[in-house]
Amino acid sequence: MNACPVCGSMSGSPPRARICLGLDAVFELVECALCGCFFCDPLPTGEQLARCYSASYYDFDPRREEGKGMAFARRLSRIRGAGAILDVGCAAGFFINGIKMRSQWEVYGIDFGESAVRYAREELNLNVRCGELAEADYPARSFDYIHVNNVLEHVRDPVGLLAACKRMLKHDGILHLSVPNGANDVLGLLEFHRQEDRPAFSHKGHICFFPARTLLRMIEAAGFTAVRARTHGFKRGMRNAGILPKKRNWKASHEPRNPAPGGAPGEDGGRISPPVGRAHSELYYRWRLSMDYLKMAPGLHRFGLDFLLLLKHSGSAQDVSA
Ligand SMILES: [Zn+2]
Repeated sequence: MNACPVCGSMSGSPPRARICLGLDAVFELVECALCGCFFCDPLPTGEQLARCYSASYYDFDPRREEGKGMAFARRLSRIRGAGAILDVGCAAGFFINGIKMRSQWEVYGIDFGESAVRYAREELNLNVRCGELAEADYPARSFDYIHVNNVLEHVRDPVGLLAACKRMLKHDGILHLSVPNGANDVLGLLEFHRQEDRPAFSHKGHICFFPARTLLRMIEAAGFTAVRARTHGFKRGMRNAGILPKKRNWKASHEPRNPAPGGAPGEDGGRISPPVGRAHSELYYRWRLSMDYLKMAPGLHRFGLDFLLLLKHSGSAQDVSA
């Protein structure tokens, strides 16, 4: 068995389920006896992960993502008139492009999808790198704000990712971490496997699942302090936990898939072709973002599916208003 990607312990549970990621491989899902992290055993290789992120994974609606970025820009501008933001897992860069359009902030991005990064560079003219953050040579203390939105649960080395953020974040900078509540997120996979006795498809590509206590332990070990902790996604979370009835077709998303054709993005010359959705006003996206924040409950709660944490370097923490 692989060591736990959070605490390094070799004391995992007997496999709790078998899962697949749309590759020619089935993984065991184990729970670390020491820190409570659930993870794929073995962890997929970098090459396998690259195959999970084919060009189609990046088909985000540009208008929506840019709208979110524009709305987010207002919040950033309230923290500081200008600064540097890094979006880790920036995909094709529409979100940071929205920030760029509506603020004085310099925007940077990194993603491991080659096709998405190529799009961000060539079509949007953004400063975006391809690869893992831990291997990127951004100078120490480069960024005032690092945005890590639903990335930690996808990577082989979440501790290394947080350590890289620690290194690259300015002394008074903010690390914005959105991450699923692993204890809740994992329930669908466990239940599918229990009922069907077949591998469950991890349909969002998650390979690690961090319960709140695991997450807090990681954050503290990385040298951060949470200045905000919020939970949202209560309806989906309560469905996962069986408090609300599950949707009738809930199993469909966990049905095992065949490998995506075409191999790794980049090798197949994969081009992303973002679908352009309905246009909304900028005001609409601002309203949506405000509503998203309003629906969040303070603290980290078991029955919510998603956590949002705002982190500062330990020792420099004071409350922030974004
Ligand atoms: Zn562990």
